[in-house]
Amino acid sequence: RLAAAARALGVRHVFDTTFSADLTIMEESSEFVARMTHPQESKLPQFTSCCPGWVRFVRKEYPEMTDHLSTAKSPQQMFGAIAKSYYAQQLGKEPKDIFCVSVMPCTAKKYEAAIPQVSDAADRDVDVVLTTRELDRMLQAMQINVAALPEEDFDSPLGRGSGAGVIFGVTGGVMEAALRTAYWKLTGANPPADAFQEIRGQKPWREASFTIGQTKLRLAVVSGLASARQLMDTLRAGQADYDFVEVMACPGGCSGGGGQPIHDGQDLSADRGSHLYQLDAESPIRFSHENPTIQALYRDYLEAPLSEKAHHLLHTDQREWTL
Ligand code: SF4
Repeated sequence: RLAAAARALGVRHVFDTTFSADLTIMEESSEFVARMTHPQESKLPQFTSCCPGWVRFVRKEYPEMTDHLSTAKSPQQMFGAIAKSYYAQQLGKEPKDIFCVSVMPCTAKKYEAAIPQVSDAADRDVDVVLTTRELDRMLQAMQINVAALPEEDFDSPLGRGSGAGVIFGVTGGVMEAALRTAYWKLTGANPPADAFQEIRGQKPWREASFTIGQTKLRLAVVSGLASARQLMDTLRAGQADYDFVEVMACPGGCSGGGGQPIHDGQDLSADRGSHLYQLDAESPIRFSHENPTIQALYRDYLEAPLSEKAHHLLHTDQREWTL
């Protein structure tokens, strides 16, 4: 229905960011496996990098730990880069002929889209960011009743995502999705899809450890910047040791993002998060690497995760971000 609503607003092609969440997982989990297998050459723990609020926090408050951030761009920026390269080619258009609007639960995404170092396919890979709250207001202003619209498909080929991509929006979801694909990369087989569900929950700082093959992984998931500060001070003091750390700046993750519709007196982040887990459980595809659109994108265009082309379009150097 949201696809139908976006078309009613005049949008020509409507896609699902879940697709590019899968792409982020492919790159970020490959980077994590590379760091784990070459620990002398890389910094551990690896920090997730899809939350611009968190990346800016690290850059500003703990600059000496910037190299711990994954260089993978966020799903928003990966989407813009692919839309203005791979998809532009498919349409026979120049990147400048495409105006890319992203709808996000997040006010910090507006800041992220304007950072010159995260646009690689055009001057700006994402031209405008609307929050979900703004989209809601636009639909009301245009008197579009989403509930009464028919269900419509997203456009192809960037409109299909896995359950792993869906849970990107809840605290712990990025870590869980990355572990599903890292397990496959390290062992050649899929784990049970819910093998890493111990990492779920709403506690602001959670820890878990898992053994994949011969490798024991120590993990932490944090949401909210107050807890992120505690985590970073603990790491800086050498009082904790992890291999992989996920941080989302908003309590509960993007489901509680600062751009979400506000319901006075209610915190809906956990409720929205549980819906995301339900959508993941019902998804016919639970692993990012099994998303056929992702497989086709690598086969036909990017070649492989961490390839030169993937590095150019899908990674950034946060040390160069202008603050
Ligand atoms: Fe944006 Fe909050 Fe999600 Fe970070 S956690 S990407 S600040 S909505």
